[in-house]
Amino acid sequence: MSAEIRHDRKIDAPSVFRFLILHLAAFSVFFVGYSHIALASLVVFYLIRYWGVSVVYHRYFSHKSFTTSRTFQFILGLIGTISGQRGPLWWAAGHRKHHRYSDTELDVHSPHNGSLFHSHIGWLLKKESLETDYELVKDFAKYPEIMWLNKNHSIGITGSFIFLYILGAWLESAYPALGTNGWQLLVWGGVLSTLLCCHVVLGLNSINHIVGKKAYPTKDSSTNIWWMFPFMLGEHLHNNHHYFPSSHTAAFKGFETDLMGASIRGMEKIGLVSNVKKPSPEKYLGDRIDNVEKENVMIRPTALN
Ligand SMILES: [Zn+2]
Ligand SMILES: [Zn+2]
Repeated sequence: MSAEIRHDRKIDAPSVFRFLILHLAAFSVFFVGYSHIALASLVVFYLIRYWGVSVVYHRYFSHKSFTTSRTFQFILGLIGTISGQRGPLWWAAGHRKHHRYSDTELDVHSPHNGSLFHSHIGWLLKKESLETDYELVKDFAKYPEIMWLNKNHSIGITGSFIFLYILGAWLESAYPALGTNGWQLLVWGGVLSTLLCCHVVLGLNSINHIVGKKAYPTKDSSTNIWWMFPFMLGEHLHNNHHYFPSSHTAAFKGFETDLMGASIRGMEKIGLVSNVKKPSPEKYLGDRIDNVEKENVMIRPTALN
């Protein structure tokens, strides 16, 4: 089974085409020009897309870090589709597999099982990667509306692109002094933010399993990379996360910051979510590598079970 996964070379041509188009479209930023509104659209839509992946797809659908109503669950799923990273069930199933088989030969995301390119994006261009393993997400697949979202995941990303174009066209006619237009917002808020979000999230599987430091002696090679905070906003504490996957936050010590976890606490405070899972301090303070081995060491997976 592992050999099939590692050596499957069936490339999905439409996926390759989509990725090429998206990357080529990014160069159109040199033709549409700059405006402060365009930059703002990049930042705002990056945050929306990233939040949709980190809080919704990752911490809710993959790890069940909190619970919520069925209605808000659907709204969350809808927000997740704005990221352009396929459906909630597809994302959660793939991620659960990543945790179950971290850095073993069954982990298609691992940079220790092939090239860095394959762990980052190559796996995503294969036919087998497009299918949702519903067996791994039975807990959410029982909701027909979530199944619908999973199959019609393009609704969010397409909607966001159309919205940005219409917004830019309206601003051009209503407030010409802003110097923006439909195409400009489509490229900055649509293409660039989607591409940036995509590579930052993919980087969690690739560079966050190579570069950085381990704070906890997990069996995988996950790391924390402090300088990725401006982009990952809490997910940069990936080794902490592997240590406590279901925790709503990856920030365990005072100086660690996880804005995604903070937003979950915010939703809890206003009653949108409940049963927010918290890590136990006794365990994570006691098991830190610097407590038990005096210095930070990289642990490469050698004999994983
Ligand atoms: Zn990982
Ligand atoms: Zn995870």
